[in-house]
Amino acid sequence: MTELTTAPLRVAREGDPPPPRRHLLAISDLDRNSVDRLLGTATTIARSLDREVKKLPALRGRLVVNLFYESSTRTLSSFDLAAKRLSADTMALRSSGSSVDKGESLKDTALTLAEYDPDVIVIRHPHIGAPQFVANVTHAHIVNAGDGKHQHPTQALLDLYTMREALGRLDGVHVAIVGDVLHSRVARSLIQALALVGARATLVGPPTLIPRGVESLGCEVSTDIADIEAADVVYVLRMQRERMDAGAAYVPSLREYAAEWGVTSQRLRPSQIVMHPGPMNRGVEIAPDVADSAVSLISEQVRSGLVVRMAVLYDLLAGGPGDDARPLEVA
Ligand code: ASP
Repeated sequence: MTELTTAPLRVAREGDPPPPRRHLLAISDLDRNSVDRLLGTATTIARSLDREVKKLPALRGRLVVNLFYESSTRTLSSFDLAAKRLSADTMALRSSGSSVDKGESLKDTALTLAEYDPDVIVIRHPHIGAPQFVANVTHAHIVNAGDGKHQHPTQALLDLYTMREALGRLDGVHVAIVGDVLHSRVARSLIQALALVGARATLVGPPTLIPRGVESLGCEVSTDIADIEAADVVYVLRMQRERMDAGAAYVPSLREYAAEWGVTSQRLRPSQIVMHPGPMNRGVEIAPDVADSAVSLISEQVRSGLVVRMAVLYDLLAGGPGDDARPLEVA
């Protein structure tokens, strides 16, 4: 989110000049201050959601378009609800059932939606760089909701928020990221986000699923599942079968993967916490009893997704350089 500043929360006023166009395309758009500010805004919003009336007026009259070319449950529903809870109008377009099925290009689809003058386009696409492309052809603020195996920045932010709520800190926290790192945009964003806040990441998985040279992102690598024991947080990744090249043998079989690399209660030590971005393959990368246990923060991650995405939308549209201080109005 280039150009973000530490401006206090405020709402736009009649006659304000339009804010500069900002995007959240990758974790590299953020610095430590902007992460702290976003997590702080999310905390303020979470408090407001304890009230009976949960809607905030902050983005009244704004339009948030969700443009999803890949399936989604958590990300799409939370962006939709986040925009509604901030009183924005929302529109969702999924590739299936739209003119994308008829062969319409991303450019033509984006230009069509741009005619409605959206303030934000949230886009998920299987191709790396699609969010940047939409940023180039429209005037909206763009949020990357996942592009191929590249980035998923709001997932990383909600994961930081969840860890901070559970552990009370991020600095020095050690996170083991386990499994299919090779195909995971979640892992790439999370490794960078952890490095930004002074946390430590160790990638654990079979060599076939760890990208070569990934240490340059600021993490360690282990091919021994026993190493998850050293971490404060065990972050389990889904086996991304839809991104695996047909015919390539990354693991002998899912059954063997589960036996060798599955996160089971026997492999955890007491006081470790477990996270997973969802959707889970129960019994493959994570044992069902672990997913449902008290050490699992998977439901918390879903709740964090809502407040963090509200914070991101708010920050893009109502925060920014040079704004006068004015607190977020809580209805
Ligand atoms: N929901 C996450 C994503 O879209 C993680 C996953 O699909 O495994 O990347």
